[in-house]
Amino acid sequence: MIGLISATAAGAAARDRLAAAWPDRTRVYEGPVGDAVRAAFAECEQLVCFLATGAVVRLIAPLLGDKSADPGVVCVDEGGRFAVSLVGGHGGGANELAREVGELLGAEPVITTATDSVGLAGLDTLGLPVEGAVAAVSRALLDGEPVALDAELRWPLPALPVAARGAYTIRLTDRAVEPGEREVVLRPPSLVVGVGASKGAPVEEVLELVEGALRDAGLSPASLAELATVDAKADEPGIVRATERLGVPLVTYPAEELAAVDVPNPSEAPLAAVGTPSVAEAAALVGGGELLVPKRKSAASPAMATCAVVRRPARGRLAVVGLGPGARDLLTPRAEAELRRASVLVGLDQYVDQIRDLLRPGTRVLESGLGAEEERARTAVAEARKGQAVALIGSGDAGVYAMASPALAEASDDIDVVGVPGVTAALAAGALLGAPLGHDHVSISLSDLHTPWEVIERRVRAAAEADLVVTFYNPRSRGRDWQLPKALAILAGHREPATPVGVVRNASRPDESARVTTLAELDPATVDMMTVVTVGNTATREIAGRMVTPRGYRWQEEPK
Ligand code: SAH
Repeated sequence: MIGLISATAAGAAARDRLAAAWPDRTRVYEGPVGDAVRAAFAECEQLVCFLATGAVVRLIAPLLGDKSADPGVVCVDEGGRFAVSLVGGHGGGANELAREVGELLGAEPVITTATDSVGLAGLDTLGLPVEGAVAAVSRALLDGEPVALDAELRWPLPALPVAARGAYTIRLTDRAVEPGEREVVLRPPSLVVGVGASKGAPVEEVLELVEGALRDAGLSPASLAELATVDAKADEPGIVRATERLGVPLVTYPAEELAAVDVPNPSEAPLAAVGTPSVAEAAALVGGGELLVPKRKSAASPAMATCAVVRRPARGRLAVVGLGPGARDLLTPRAEAELRRASVLVGLDQYVDQIRDLLRPGTRVLESGLGAEEERARTAVAEARKGQAVALIGSGDAGVYAMASPALAEASDDIDVVGVPGVTAALAAGALLGAPLGHDHVSISLSDLHTPWEVIERRVRAAAEADLVVTFYNPRSRGRDWQLPKALAILAGHREPATPVGVVRNASRPDESARVTTLAELDPATVDMMTVVTVGNTATREIAGRMVTPRGYRWQEEPK
């Protein structure tokens, strides 16, 4: 039971929301606060006090005994802004309660226990089905007790603080094993079942066949990733409904593709019917893997369905993650989730520093200095090929003048790739300048380290002729100082000297600066590598100190 105590009207209102949301878990203690806290402390497993932490500390101090037996206590402030886990963070479940209360009331959970505040893996948040002693093993991880990882398969798991040996175990397997008392079993989606069926095969027959094949082979249905069949059977009701009941996707392949797969048990019947000598085995084996259950037929007579089970090879995971321009609140929640999903992080040292606090403890960090781009790309792909969960990071958007292209140029289809977009510098700068990108625009990098200047110049000229708003990335560095004036001169050939130009340095970083000037007045010496320069088109105006590019198309046709 959770005891609820409040002193003021505001506290009582929040208290009543909790009580209404959790009628069976909570009990309201009325009366003088001291008596209420003492009674709740004696009778409840947990307390939520809508009181100042100081008041609660004074009231419970004389009552505290042993951390394994004391209730967990959470304090919520008058304004309902924070849910503070005060005592019993682990043993009393106060950390978890603070999170739950926070979610319900829209308050920020405040958790100061070391392991939790650095964001240790919750076993139920790994994205894999999990069975067994989840609470006990999670607690062991939180308390820093040794937990062993027993992985029968390679799988791209996030970083977990595991030891070589331990009283608790995290087991990764697709076999139908019962978890022990101090064990959790993680289920990787490693099994593919290929199915074939004659027209009108009943769903029960298909379902029993698939479930029987897994059962007889000692495999867990929780590890079933998908059912696979031939295109011609994509709408076969027995297969479609069995797939739905199993809660997995149905994947189908053209007959020619299946015909090319080498299988142990080809036959004439499907060849005549759908054009491939094997459906079940071939569909299960398309992506490679180990055939665990060769083709078998359903028990009905005549048998109307076939299936085969394959364990697919582990695929590493490469997440290419844009961190945004700098500020933490411009890093997307998805980027944050991917950073926490990784066991290996690859990136430029200065970007790693930007997000180090978000990584799970135990994440392997492979950082390198400026340059070294090809090497970073190769490392990231090589780690993913080994079956790891890798995050390759870049500032802004990782696909814009950054790591995504060199990495994906290296990668083949033996790894899974996930891209997470980030706020690129042109957008971060645009928001500071006003609305410079309101009409067609282009980004051009002025770095001629890897691109010949002739090519860059041709593109600047084309942008000038096409009257595009232009954002220059990599505009100027110590060794490259003539490119920006040259590019601006080309634009000036097609635009008025008074055309607005935005200069933004370190957008969203502590020493951010943004100003609007003009083509005629821009001093290139004020521009460096931390800067983007956005040049307006012939319609861009400075309005109230902001750069505005009109959206309309009509202005171009309006009679003068
Ligand atoms: N992937 C990055 C761009 C990398 S190229 C992105 O999408 O933003 C590096 C150039 O980007 C720098 O020379 C600078 O021109 C620009 N840049 C990156 N971050 C910036 C920021 N916070 N403020 C201004 N310019 C920035």
